[in-house]
Amino acid sequence: PPSSHPLLRRPCRTMILVNPHSGRGQALQLFSGHIQAMLTEASVPYTLVITEHQNHARELVRKADLSKWDALVIMSGDGLLFEVINGLMEREDWQEAMQTPLGILPGGSGNALAIRLKHNTGYREHTNGLFCGFLLCKGLVGSLDLVSIHLTSRQRLFSFLSLAWGFVADVDIESEKYRHVGAIRFLMGTLVRLATLRVYQGRLAYLPVTEASKLPKGSIRGPVDSLLPGLDQPVPETWTVVKDEDFVLVLAIYQSHLAEDLWTVPGAQADDGVIHLFYVTAGISRPALLRLFLAMEKGAHLACGCPYLVYEKVRALRLEPISPQGVITVDGEMVEYGPVQAQIHPGLASLTFV
Ligand code: ADP
Ligand code: MG
Repeated sequence: PPSSHPLLRRPCRTMILVNPHSGRGQALQLFSGHIQAMLTEASVPYTLVITEHQNHARELVRKADLSKWDALVIMSGDGLLFEVINGLMEREDWQEAMQTPLGILPGGSGNALAIRLKHNTGYREHTNGLFCGFLLCKGLVGSLDLVSIHLTSRQRLFSFLSLAWGFVADVDIESEKYRHVGAIRFLMGTLVRLATLRVYQGRLAYLPVTEASKLPKGSIRGPVDSLLPGLDQPVPETWTVVKDEDFVLVLAIYQSHLAEDLWTVPGAQADDGVIHLFYVTAGISRPALLRLFLAMEKGAHLACGCPYLVYEKVRALRLEPISPQGVITVDGEMVEYGPVQAQIHPGLASLTFV
């Protein structure tokens, strides 16, 4: 990583949150194996918190005295980081709270952000946990884009990874039952879903990335979603409305990797201020869809020349499902089904070891 990155405060007082049930249920074992020794070696003082239930971490960071911590590190999958980010954003002092560097030591079955970190820095031969532990000890800090997502019930969430509907969302949720096999659960889920491939009806619109829609880094810090009208209002004229209404999948992603073997956006940076919007329209054959996912392992899906796959760089988007049933996920977690809209907030969070 470039040396221009600021460094974590020394000594770095670290809270480590572990979800003992993430992935194959080995997060704690991984921790007491190499990570613990590495932190001790690097004289990183830490407090270990083992989560007891869903939203435990979210509630904890919402109320925590953050002056006591220089970094919050989660050891789990993407789901626990999602909890921590949303807990911080629910605080009165969210602006200051979001300056707390967040770290991720992969322990789950979905570790998109951790994979991305490893990938970008050319240490691919190292096992993930060790590598992220190494970076944490080095203490580099960078910034991370977040996307605010509005649901039908007016609830707002903050997302660091993805918003998905259709095929990808279904695989994400259905593959939870294969959690014990680790990251390969996504491939298993994909094969199962291909057998029952369906089309989802809905409307999609987005604000494309242009010079005019550029949001300078740090210009919008926080909750004002200046690009979004109310969900009950029509989208502005500057938006593009997609003509198709029959989709196989819609995926908005703001990191390079959706999962370990899915290098979805080869050019993406954690703080590029861009939502990478992909959609696949109805009519694609099962073999062609499978080819796209297999090509994604090497980031080569866009080079497949598949006419059903569309890729746009956007700042905001709205999705209005018409199909009465379906699944929408945010960072791999299921959310309320119905119209959703989203906008980017460049560099809203701090991330250690970018
Ligand atoms: P994985 O990558 O294996 O899915 P995640 O970190 O995404 O791991 O966690 C999966 C889910 O478990 C998330 O919804 C998270 O909020 C939830 N969770 C966190 N801690 C616990 C716990 N102690 N018991 C049960 N569920 C938890
Ligand atoms: Mg998960």
